[in-house]
Amino acid sequence: MKKSPLSIYVHIPFCVKKCSYCDFLSFAGTEEEMEHYLTAVLREIEEAEESGLQYEVQTVYIGGGTPSRVPPHLIAEIMDSLRKKYTFAENAEISMEMNPGTLKRDALRIYRECGINRLSIGCQSLNDEELRLLGRIHTVEDFKKTYHEVREAGFKNVSVDLMSSIPGQSAEKFRSSLEGILALKPEHISVYSLIVEPGTLFYSKYEKGELDLPSEESVTETDRMVRDLLSERGYKRYEISNYARDGYECRHNLVYWNRGDYRGFGPGAASLIGDHRFTNIRSYASYMEHPGKTREDDFVLSVRDAMEEFMFLGLRTCEGVSATDFYRNFGQDITEVFGKILEKQERDGYLIHKGERYSYTDEGLEVSNILMSEYLE
Ligand code: SF4
Repeated sequence: MKKSPLSIYVHIPFCVKKCSYCDFLSFAGTEEEMEHYLTAVLREIEEAEESGLQYEVQTVYIGGGTPSRVPPHLIAEIMDSLRKKYTFAENAEISMEMNPGTLKRDALRIYRECGINRLSIGCQSLNDEELRLLGRIHTVEDFKKTYHEVREAGFKNVSVDLMSSIPGQSAEKFRSSLEGILALKPEHISVYSLIVEPGTLFYSKYEKGELDLPSEESVTETDRMVRDLLSERGYKRYEISNYARDGYECRHNLVYWNRGDYRGFGPGAASLIGDHRFTNIRSYASYMEHPGKTREDDFVLSVRDAMEEFMFLGLRTCEGVSATDFYRNFGQDITEVFGKILEKQERDGYLIHKGERYSYTDEGLEVSNILMSEYLE
């Protein structure tokens, strides 16, 4: 029997300290807590309903938090348990997030031995003042050291995360961070605009009027500069915030946007199996009591909801959505369901209809949040 493709996300909720803008599920944690956490995640993996008979793993993403903060043998044990449970495709993409200043001894060797073949390094900025403002634990030097160590260890697929729209930042200032990253020639670059989330240190500063956020014009200028500079240097934009050299698009994230099957392990981890969506409870304490058994939400999408997801997730990618896939999934013509919206967005210059595909123009991607909400009933 041919097995179905499956992607796996494993959440590692430990960080050295909270960054000023971060609302992810993460905390400091002791090594003892990390070991307990490992036991819990291994139990969740072992007891997962999705069987290895049915699925073949195509991608794994170990994210957080800061996976490189935990003893590397924990990561190896997670990989072992996944391999025991599932078969892996020979060319499976196995990514892990890491942060400068957190690498443990022998870690890179252990990561390679357990099959990790893609590392995503959280850099955020190549300006020490900005790094301090963001509450990052590392300096520019720490990042460069980590990057070189990763290369020397033989990793050939490396991604770097940068953050734009940092308080006090102009397009020109961001350009110098981006140029610095380009000089290192990573295979993949993600550029996320800062979002001030409730519950973060930045949010309380923002409420007190103490956060000097860039103007809307400056944000747009930065976005356009990023798009143009990266394209000039051979990085193809393949999603709103993601750019890659040919063949280095993150396959794991593409599964999310194309609504493939994925299974998340750890607190707050989300899964989609067919049209069944479920998310583990976010509370760390509750998760540890019954790993994977208590859920934040758990429901089967209606056909209409699945169609809407198909549109607003697929249109995040520069390839956009396929009318053929829409018909294959839902047995209806995309124009029957969304024809009016597609026509309007095309007329306004935000959408291109080429062959059987619909995708956003650069102008469309700039206002994609607004455009995508138009697909919601
Ligand atoms: S390193 Fe990442 S996950 Fe950890 S606190 Fe900072 S932004 Fe959040």
